[in-house]
Amino acid sequence: MRLDLSEILLHVGKNVPYDMNEPALVDEDIECVEPIVGRLVFTNAGSTLLIKGKADTSLYLSCSRCADYFSSPVSLDIDEQFEMQFSGGGLRQAQQVDILEDDENPIAAKIFQGPIFDLTELLRQYLLVEAPTRPIPPCDNEGRCQQCHLLPEEVLAPYQDTEKPEEAAANSPFSRLAELLHEEEAE
Ligand SMILES: [Zn+2]
Repeated sequence: MRLDLSEILLHVGKNVPYDMNEPALVDEDIECVEPIVGRLVFTNAGSTLLIKGKADTSLYLSCSRCADYFSSPVSLDIDEQFEMQFSGGGLRQAQQVDILEDDENPIAAKIFQGPIFDLTELLRQYLLVEAPTRPIPPCDNEGRCQQCHLLPEEVLAPYQDTEKPEEAAANSPFSRLAELLHEEEAE
């Protein structure tokens, strides 16, 4: 879903809630089994646009032990702020507001085109970060996977021979994105 935020961007103090019910997102990296539902609030705080809210869905994951698929609920805490850039506003020109795309917020370039906000892309970014790199379905009280009945150490041992966990994490396609988002949180 793409949302036109022009009204919000042009009015300082404007606060608009949005109830979302996005179709289950499916692409090469992410597979949702349920629609993404939740609520976002867009706030024009003067020089920044705040986007805050929650979203829930379920991801279809492959057990890192037995490769069986299972679904796992995820809850996203959305908290973003984007710097706004004003231009125009002279006598013969309507004022324009754009989201400033800079290195501080690497995802801005992907989710804004002028005042058009790509909600699907934002949710995709959050889901990529939220998805576990080594998914494990619900376990019994002994810690055995309910599907393959293996303990984590029974499966991870051969894996660690070829690749150290840190290397595996560094090679994950999500690691750079997770890094970027963490850098952003740290600021
Ligand atoms: Zn399993």
